[in-house]
Amino acid sequence: MGMTLRSPVLLVHGGAWAIPPEMAEDHQRGVANALAAGYAVLTRGGIATEAVEAAVTVLEDDPTFDAGRGSFLTAEGRVQLDALLMDGGSMRAGGVACVERLRNPIQAARLVLDRSPHVYFVGQGAEAFAAAHGMTLIDNSELVLDRERVRLADAQARLAAGLADITFSGPLAADDKSPETAVPHNHFDSHDTVGAVALDAHGNLAAGTSTGGTLNKAPGRVGDSSLIGCGCYADNLSAAVSLTGWGEPIMKLVLGKWATDRVAAGTPPADAARQAIDYLFTRLGGHGGIILLGPDGRFGLAHNTPGMAWGIADDYGQRTGLVV
Ligand code: ASP
Repeated sequence: MGMTLRSPVLLVHGGAWAIPPEMAEDHQRGVANALAAGYAVLTRGGIATEAVEAAVTVLEDDPTFDAGRGSFLTAEGRVQLDALLMDGGSMRAGGVACVERLRNPIQAARLVLDRSPHVYFVGQGAEAFAAAHGMTLIDNSELVLDRERVRLADAQARLAAGLADITFSGPLAADDKSPETAVPHNHFDSHDTVGAVALDAHGNLAAGTSTGGTLNKAPGRVGDSSLIGCGCYADNLSAAVSLTGWGEPIMKLVLGKWATDRVAAGTPPADAARQAIDYLFTRLGGHGGIILLGPDGRFGLAHNTPGMAWGIADDYGQRTGLVV
């Protein structure tokens, strides 16, 4: 019995924030390289999870982004990485968080998805699992760039001087006393988390998100990116999604699942993406960006930050952009 093959689609992002003009080219090049690697997997009949892993690996390897080498540093000056990969066909998922010794956490996430009865590993247990399945453990310093040491020192000096830019502007701003809003956070601070969503020729969806988290985060802090239904989710019966932005509000709203549920209920992905970002802002004053891909190949992207690095590859070719 023959199987109908469909046109594959790959969508990637490289963060949503006020991307400065001098960094625009690097972002666009990085996104284009990721698209090329991931789409090549899809056009040779590869599966969606494999394409997402390939695209995210390229973005992790690119020091432009807050994923893999070149990520933001924790308050203690180390790189701590989180990643999730999810297969919308089988609903299998693999996540790792707070890993410090893996060059490509998305590959560890793939191993968890493929080879573990569990779904999520953290810290040393995640590293041990990855090593047991053939991944090389590196020294954390290999992931740390001088650029990031300077960025961390600047951020800590600004905090110490009381100069941190507090721009909380959502509807809860006036009376919200939650501990996270007591931590100064500029919503347009760099959010260079990376992600990809793919639809393969067999009709399966997958999603992946990888991050170094937020600048000056407390060691052990996990954001939305690697949490199922928050910064990443995939289900063939709804959609595949990857988010970037200020993680704490995204987590509280379980925003990835919120968006895919709307697609399942009949909202076109373009509208669901916009609604998710509007909800993030109106409910919690959050900022970020989203890419969303339905099982029929329709997609959406939205952000309420000044810019977002994104790209798409499909039958019509490869397009990248920094804003929508
Ligand atoms: N969402 C990420 C986090 O909170 C950060 C980002 O998107 O840049 O860890």
